Amino acid sequence: MSAPRPTASVLVTGSELLTGHIADTNGPFVARALGDLGFAVRRVIVVGDRPDDLRSALDHVAADDLVVTSGGLGPTADDLTAEIVAEFAGAPMAVDPALQERIHAKVSGWAARAGWDGPALDAATAKQARVPCGASVLEPVGTAPGLVVTRPGGPLVVVLPGPPRELTRMWPAALTAGPVAALLARTPRAEPVRLRFAGLPESEIAATLRAVEADLDVSGVEVTTCLRRSELEVDLHPLPGAVGVARELAGRIVAAHRRKLISDDGRSTDELLATALQDKGWTVATGESCTGGLLSARLVDRAGSSAYVAGGVVAYSDAAKTALLDVPAAMIAEHGAVSPQVARALADGARARFGADIGVGITGVAGPGGGTEAKPVGYVCFCVATADGQVVARDPYLPGGRTDVRERSVDLAMHLLLRVTGVTGPDAHR
Ligand code: AMP
Ligand code: MG
Repeated sequence: MSAPRPTASVLVTGSELLTGHIADTNGPFVARALGDLGFAVRRVIVVGDRPDDLRSALDHVAADDLVVTSGGLGPTADDLTAEIVAEFAGAPMAVDPALQERIHAKVSGWAARAGWDGPALDAATAKQARVPCGASVLEPVGTAPGLVVTRPGGPLVVVLPGPPRELTRMWPAALTAGPVAALLARTPRAEPVRLRFAGLPESEIAATLRAVEADLDVSGVEVTTCLRRSELEVDLHPLPGAVGVARELAGRIVAAHRRKLISDDGRSTDELLATALQDKGWTVATGESCTGGLLSARLVDRAGSSAYVAGGVVAYSDAAKTALLDVPAAMIAEHGAVSPQVARALADGARARFGADIGVGITGVAGPGGGTEAKPVGYVCFCVATADGQVVARDPYLPGGRTDVRERSVDLAMHLLLRVTGVTGPDAHR
């Protein structure tokens, strides 16, 4: 039956991450990768470059099967990770002369050109080539080698450099290093089921889960629900042996909320829309006011988007709406720039001007100023019009501040686009 998964934790180091000025990207990258590999990720801990804090963080995760650290492998005195991990594993440190030679060879050219060669450089390469005895060395991407250190009795510690580009590029080598590969070989792969819904509150999923639990033992499945980009993501993570239960549970959740379903195979709205537009051979043109091009940017975010994005206009002023997208000035005067009529005219204008198959119009009050009683901040009008005569219009009151309103507007426009391509359930949008 269900067996527990090997556990892993991520230890992110760097005092600069505690000031709030740099956001940690390594922790999420490693956590996600470890989860996909089949580990139960127990913790992501961020600590500053203080020896005692590093030691106590390592003690905290000492019961896990695998620990991955990021950062603190540079040449300066505050780069302590290799040393503290060696101490944790009870391994002495020694300079690896061949490694020092390889690091020196990598940096000597530019260091000489910049006039930075000499004793300081030698000291720096020697520091970076000091590794715990018995560790596997991962070749440097920059100048810092990664390490795989085995602590007798566990855990296995993978030590990676802090610069995100170096860490991600070293990751594949870390997975093939002997002790890590051996651990992976006895770790059953995760087989998560990912469901995406739009316009469905978390409370509805909770109620469905309660109903299913009455006659299905779901204890082997960890369910997490998360609101992201105006969508509700439901992830079902089965323990080994509970994959069938996860599938059955997923089927029952989908059956209960099919009309709000976007995908049951993990595919995102952006992915689904790109595929649907390409399948139909349709192109999109945008006429955006309050979103100022955010929808265009989202549409062209994917490689290959030139196949289905014709173009867009940011028509922010009334004059631009009229001059560039043929919105009649009289219409704006009569109904106001934020009105369903103008959203429709923006969609039609964009479609006509770009000769596209689909036009999208968005006009709204993003705030914080400019709201009225009839059209408060958050009132946004949408229209998606297609060459084959479909017109989908919405004018919701979106919650939140200026950024929220603009981001949610883009999410909603993406859902309306999916709707006219016929992909999603009939209610999978507001
Ligand atoms: P380090 O390897 O600790 O010397 O880190 C070098 C630089 O990489 C730092 O100054 C940061 O700019 C960047 N960096 C380190 N850790 C992270 C992280 N967890 N997330 C994002 N950037 C990081
Ligand atoms: Mg650092």
